[in-house]
Amino acid sequence: MVASSTPLNRHSHQLLQQNFSVTFQYQVHFTEQLFDSNNPLLANVVAADSETLPHKMMVIADEGVLANHPHLSSQIENYCHHYGDVLKLTTAVIAVPGGEAIKNNSNWVEAWQQKMDESSLCRHSFVIAIGGGAVLDAVGYAAATAHRGIRLIRVPTTVLAQNDAGVGVKNGINAFAKKNFLGTFSPPYAVLNDSAFLHTLDDRNWRGGIAEAIKVSLIKDVAFFEQLETLAGAIALREMSAMQMAIYRSAELHLQHIARNGDPFEMGSSRPLDFGHWAAHRLEHLTHYRLNHGEAVAIGIALDSTYSYLMGLLPERELQRIYDTLQTLKFTLYVPELSHYLDDPQHPNSLFIGLKEFQEHLGGQLTVMLLAGIGRGVEVHQVNLERYREAVGILKNQSFTL
Ligand code: NAD
Repeated sequence: MVASSTPLNRHSHQLLQQNFSVTFQYQVHFTEQLFDSNNPLLANVVAADSETLPHKMMVIADEGVLANHPHLSSQIENYCHHYGDVLKLTTAVIAVPGGEAIKNNSNWVEAWQQKMDESSLCRHSFVIAIGGGAVLDAVGYAAATAHRGIRLIRVPTTVLAQNDAGVGVKNGINAFAKKNFLGTFSPPYAVLNDSAFLHTLDDRNWRGGIAEAIKVSLIKDVAFFEQLETLAGAIALREMSAMQMAIYRSAELHLQHIARNGDPFEMGSSRPLDFGHWAAHRLEHLTHYRLNHGEAVAIGIALDSTYSYLMGLLPERELQRIYDTLQTLKFTLYVPELSHYLDDPQHPNSLFIGLKEFQEHLGGQLTVMLLAGIGRGVEVHQVNLERYREAVGILKNQSFTL
């Protein structure tokens, strides 16, 4: 290295090469009745880091969950009292609106951070986020940016959050009319999935979450897709054991992908897990969130599978199986917003703006995941808009028997 006192000549430069790696690990637990005092899981997870017990803890919970589980707040308070040597609740459980609205208003993040400050939370304290993917995303963002990262334990309460949104490394809120424009990559301290919460989901959120399991099976694991084909009827009838199997495998595949795919913090231009998502994110926006995330993902899967078929990648028989599985689960595969301004791809309300936004969000070249067969994702960097128009036409006409 050049000594700092050495004067630099014109056009010369000095270099310091920085290089280090950080290992992340966290556990995803599957349990029932998490806040029952007889269930020591949460206390054990927190106590595993035995320094300076008890740890301060703030709990932020989805109002949709609290309304359906009216004893939850008092149960949490009793739990913290019972395990008082490990956990110290700094303030009463904070109730927050559930659903996408929480991600559309950054004031919430600031309000929680103010509470974290008033409660003197430190980087060794815990924020427990209880709720659907939207609440987990927003609270996760607040926790990740307070003190540059307060420990976050996620308690996902929807199917989608338990099998996907709650188990990964991302958080975020929406801004400037774009999904997840503000956010960080920030692994949680732990994830605690309690299937008892799922009983109170309405049918749309019960079904919606399974779209992410279908997505991950289609791009990665034909055996899992076959399992979902078999389980679809039982899941539609709300059989919990069928749903638990689907959630467990989907969460496992999502975790494996993050750990093994070589790009956990999405530095490259590709995002394989976002199969069907360029259209899904766009449709959520175009329908003003009339569609929930999972419902939009189901349509995105149907669209990109149909396009894969039209491009000669996906055999017709396999496309039909995908339609059949989505329809057994009672997903709608077409909404009018799909067809708006298809002939004017630059129009602000065109579906095709979603491709541009997808590319912008990831940076680099456009990368869209398609299917070369069930269980075999394949990335492309160019798309044929005419074939996409055709794919929308097929979904619109509900010509599912090709
Ligand atoms: P959601 O969070 O919007 O919740 C849907 C509704 O269910 C809300 O009204 C909520 O109050 C209610 N609810 C939650 N749990 C309940 C329960 N147990 N009983 C009754 N009602 C309950 O929906 P979601 O599908 O869980 O999450 C969608 C969000 O997740 C989107 O914002 C999406 O962008 C995000 N997401 C994030 C990631 C990620 O990696 N961070 C991945 C996928 C999706």
